[in-house]
Amino acid sequence: MNVIKNTTADLQEMDRAHFMHPSTHMRQHAAGETPNRIINGGKGIYIHDTEGKQTLDAFAGLYCVNIGYGRTEVADAIYAQAKELAYYHTYVGHSNEPIIRLSDRIVKSAPEGMQRVYYGMSGSDANETNIKLIWYYNNIRGLPQKKKIISRWRGYHGSGIMTGSLTGLAAFHNAFDLPRAPVLHTTCPHHYWNAEAGETEAGFAKRCADDLEKMILREGPETVAAFIGEPVMGTGGIITPPEGYWDAIQTVLNKYDVLLVADEVVTAFGRTGSYFGSQHYGMKPDLITIAKGVSSGYLPLSGVIIGERVWKVLEQGSDQMGPIGHGWTYSAHPVCAAAANANLDIVDGENLTGNAAETGGYFQHLLRETFKDHPLVGEARGVGLMAALEFVADKTKKERFDPNAKIGPRVSAACLERGMIARAMPHGDILGFAPPLCITKAEIDKVVDIAKQAVDAVADEVA
Ligand code: PLP
Repeated sequence: MNVIKNTTADLQEMDRAHFMHPSTHMRQHAAGETPNRIINGGKGIYIHDTEGKQTLDAFAGLYCVNIGYGRTEVADAIYAQAKELAYYHTYVGHSNEPIIRLSDRIVKSAPEGMQRVYYGMSGSDANETNIKLIWYYNNIRGLPQKKKIISRWRGYHGSGIMTGSLTGLAAFHNAFDLPRAPVLHTTCPHHYWNAEAGETEAGFAKRCADDLEKMILREGPETVAAFIGEPVMGTGGIITPPEGYWDAIQTVLNKYDVLLVADEVVTAFGRTGSYFGSQHYGMKPDLITIAKGVSSGYLPLSGVIIGERVWKVLEQGSDQMGPIGHGWTYSAHPVCAAAANANLDIVDGENLTGNAAETGGYFQHLLRETFKDHPLVGEARGVGLMAALEFVADKTKKERFDPNAKIGPRVSAACLERGMIARAMPHGDILGFAPPLCITKAEIDKVVDIAKQAVDAVADEVA
């Protein structure tokens, strides 16, 4: 007879024996040397685990649980849809009501000129779709050489073969034989580290655009198809663009007939305080990647919103080649779409975008005020409800800590000890915040208070 094992220790033993985790140290985990917390519930901005411990999640899972945890309206919508129609494919023109309604509301709320939405299950697969559509687009236009994709150092676009290549972080390349051609990386627009002494934000933005132009000219504009960027860099360190950056970049792209992909996996559906990050920064993308906030992670769903210029060519392509040879079994899954509609009903009905603007503005101000004179904090930055603290060994000389000192992870651990999750970002000593968009000002006070205690504690250790 099978004995049901269900104490936390039993579950941890099974976890370490049989489950391969993403982004985890394999040997240490198997050997029981890493934390192995089993999460079993959540409400609002809090999660709790099988040991009964409650934690404030100031990173909304992986910046995705925008409506907060435990919203039964979404669970009810999932249940109702699963009972009515759990699945049917959407190949050769088949459809379902939730996906029709979802596409209608997304296109109507998206930046001008967007035409259709194609669906996937993750941000990575949506970006793979983007690249295929871009290559198809230029083949149909009779420009088979125009295939290179430019992304940025420290950009994050996923961890597939193509999307891992687009990602500009070494940890996602090393020992995976990535990046693969035809991907190129240009300057990371982080003013704090990459600007020259005395260079203004606008001057630095212009230099980033000049670097891009030089790269396009060096490669040959006839070989460069697209530029992909997050309106605000996320995993690379929550980096807001310097003043004038997107205008300057778009001027270069337009000059050389290069498409713009806005990877809005993190920024779409309210996080910056605007519905789309593209709207926040005046971007006019040809393709927009969405995921995370479209369903708040209640079920997996991603998408590519396709603009006019690409859509027209896709239609032309079908006339020439027949039905498009791209599709996945679970594209436009009806239960995921029902979850997304219920999620967006909450985002819209409770004006969470407005809250991200207002409470986010309060958060940004409080964070900057609290840490402006802190010796460990070189920069406090962000927009809306996404923010970061950058830790430095010497604030005046702008010197980094030795990476082996692991200051970012230590501050993150100190936050956790005090009951809060804030993420140690993978590049540099950076603590990231991206709480659920339903967070209140009183809860923000608590987030900043715990962060201050944690940073002080690590500062004392290194003093
Ligand atoms: N693009 C951006 C901007 C992201 O932040 C992420 C994930 O964090 C992805 C793409 C990849 O999404 P996924 O992890 O769902 O594949």
